[in-house]
Amino acid sequence: MERSCERAVELGLPGIAFTEHADWVAIHDGQRPMDVAGYLDAVERCRQRFKGLRILSGVEFGEPHWFPEESAAILAGGKLDRVLGSVHCVRIGSEIIDASEFRFRPASEAMNAIKEYFREMLDLVDSPQHFDALAHLDYPKRYWPSDLPLYREEDFEEELRAILTAAQKRGLVLEANTTRGDGGEQRFCPGRKVLRWWHEMGGEAVSFGSDAHHPEAVAGGFKLAVEIVEAAGFKPAKDPLALWRR
Ligand SMILES: [Zn+2]
Repeated sequence: MERSCERAVELGLPGIAFTEHADWVAIHDGQRPMDVAGYLDAVERCRQRFKGLRILSGVEFGEPHWFPEESAAILAGGKLDRVLGSVHCVRIGSEIIDASEFRFRPASEAMNAIKEYFREMLDLVDSPQHFDALAHLDYPKRYWPSDLPLYREEDFEEELRAILTAAQKRGLVLEANTTRGDGGEQRFCPGRKVLRWWHEMGGEAVSFGSDAHHPEAVAGGFKLAVEIVEAAGFKPAKDPLALWRR
């Protein structure tokens, strides 16, 4: 975290938000539930060390609608500035599969899993689970199976619009996630077409996330993301850390 702050200062960023993962589906070895107190201590240490940088706290919930009690406990554990809701995994039969693994499945199974992903995302948005922003709306595009036709937003327009409609109704923010800026616009979740739909449909606001995971990737792709979000019709706020609104 301290190295990410150093990188933010180097880039001349006014601030940084650490949206720590809170996942309960154990996909990666050694993955632990989020330690809220430990995390907030680390944020505080960064704030002490980097006085000129505004440091926001936050969480990215993975499938919080599957874990309502665990999610509520995290929210009760301390003040978190940014609360993201996301889906990484789907249930296929008795299995739980992360979207990064869809590409290792036969094409027809992978396509079903992708449809299931969007259905699960709609379930999350329709759930009473508390979060403010919807993270990486079309995450499976990052790990697109090579034997499927290339991902095109218009091929999933019905699914995506259903999610956006539900998100707009509950006043959610849509995250423009740059996937670390790695791979350009093709890997933005979501891309420019969906951001435009969001604006057309009355979506209130957009947040920016680089999903960095490493100090080198902090704010990766933000220059291009700013252009795309502005082209979609959203306007910067006076405060550089605030959401962009319509
Ligand atoms: Zn995520």
